[in-house]
Amino acid sequence: MNRENKRKTFEKGYYKTHACRDTFTCKVCGRLCTPENAGSDHRNHCPNCLSSLHVDIEPGDRESDCGGIMEPVAVWVRRGGEWAIIHRCKRCGALSSNRVAADDNPMKLMSIAMRPLSAPPFPLERIEEMTALMGGEGSVR
Ligand SMILES: [Zn+2]
Ligand SMILES: [Zn+2]
Repeated sequence: MNRENKRKTFEKGYYKTHACRDTFTCKVCGRLCTPENAGSDHRNHCPNCLSSLHVDIEPGDRESDCGGIMEPVAVWVRRGGEWAIIHRCKRCGALSSNRVAADDNPMKLMSIAMRPLSAPPFPLERIEEMTALMGGEGSVR
């Protein structure tokens, strides 16, 4: 996008003081994303595949020129029990944390949360051996 046009559309800090009411088409899964069901003023990621675009440096500032696809790589739990998604830019590697929206795909959220458990860095058959090493009762017999 031409930088001058971008400036006109995205004034610095605009989305910090204005609700983001943009409808956009997800570049990853093609879903049309509307802000109506997000339950929040900022719809910054696709509710279906949870991907986002690298357009912000600080949330809502639209100051980044990267434009890479932000892939959801992890979820974490905020104080109060609210879930947030960690996005990582495929192009430049930047990380950001984003609140989940009310209509985010719960199965996708769960699969991201479970990913480290379903792909442990050691063979599952060795769990007994591992817990024994840690002094636990690893035996199932
Ligand atoms: Zn999507
Ligand atoms: Zn980036």
